[in-house]
Amino acid sequence: MQTLYMDYAATTPVDPAVAEKMMQYLTADGCFANPASRAHMLGWFAEQAVEESRLTIAKSVGCDLRELVWTSGATESNNLALKGVAETRKAQGRHIITSAIEHKAVLDTCGWLETQGFEVTYLKPDSTGVISVEQVADALREDTILASFMWVNNELGSINPVLEIGALLREKGVVFHVDAAQAGGKVVMDLANMPIDLVSFSAHKIYGPKGMGALYVRRDPDLKVAAQIHGGGHERGMRSGTLPTHQIVGMAEAMKIATERLQQDFDHLTTLRQQFWQGISVLDAVSVNGDLESGYPGILNVCFAGVDGESLLMALKDVAVSTGSACNSASVDPSYVLSGIGLPRDKALSSLRFSWGRFCTAEEVEQAIASVTRAVTALRS
Ligand SMILES: *Cc1c(COP(=O)(O)O)cnc(C)c1O
Repeated sequence: MQTLYMDYAATTPVDPAVAEKMMQYLTADGCFANPASRAHMLGWFAEQAVEESRLTIAKSVGCDLRELVWTSGATESNNLALKGVAETRKAQGRHIITSAIEHKAVLDTCGWLETQGFEVTYLKPDSTGVISVEQVADALREDTILASFMWVNNELGSINPVLEIGALLREKGVVFHVDAAQAGGKVVMDLANMPIDLVSFSAHKIYGPKGMGALYVRRDPDLKVAAQIHGGGHERGMRSGTLPTHQIVGMAEAMKIATERLQQDFDHLTTLRQQFWQGISVLDAVSVNGDLESGYPGILNVCFAGVDGESLLMALKDVAVSTGSACNSASVDPSYVLSGIGLPRDKALSSLRFSWGRFCTAEEVEQAIASVTRAVTALRS
């Protein structure tokens, strides 16, 4: 049985063009040398590939290439941003603001910072999963040093007003970090002209390799990020470790393709989501968690009232979807994101996240509609 992959928010398959590019940086006949090797040409070629990749991504997101630090993914980027700033700013204050529905890579990092003497305010989003600038304004204190809000939520597709929030935080002198794992390469970014200080990126959400990411660190003498991984002083001292050239060129190729196809992909996803919702909304008691109008079109979180989400997941053998974030899928607790937007426990446990991507077709969506309809009808009867 062919599986219909509709879990693109968890990860994406590597684009064949990306895989092909990566292959050229692995084997003895390729560009495999250590990019930090200064003693021979092979090292220079690898370094050149790394710096060209950095420039590609910098152009895609509208920043200077010196503002990007390579990491192993958005989890590490989030850790580096939050811990790195907390460490350098603690003399100025120990208060941090974030939201209750951030990714665990932000929430658990904040939790750890709390054990280190920092105080964290977790704002509660509205019922669609959005944090407002007024809420942030109300939470600000004299000792607030840092705030972190995600651009696009991975379970709901909700989009935060990061530019408005950023403008407020910039005015107040608070460092602003944005987790853009679900937004990089998917929404238009012009970081040089946006009031954001730090942005986390991940390659595997945009058809690049897993285990690769970047952190944008705005060039500002007052913005210092303390290294969390010490070693040879790579990445201007912010993140040591031999650079994985193949991963880096893979991420750059993925970002280049995503940027070229940004509107095309967005329109494609909008069409698929609309088709899917039209197909399943004829069922009784189905509702959208989040907001169909304003959310990112690659993600649709649906509540099938009265149907157990786990049972539905089991019944949908030919459709790969998720009950929440991948890290939670083994537990029966309702998704903290759905609880966070005020959804009652039973509704949260009756919800599934569908997420589409570039390689999904209308035909597959049609098949998924049929499978979901069959499964929901069977479970309700
Ligand atoms: C996937 C994801 C992460 C983690 O990214 P990795 O590269 O897998 O570490 C962080 N935040 C959000 C919003 C995500 O969707």
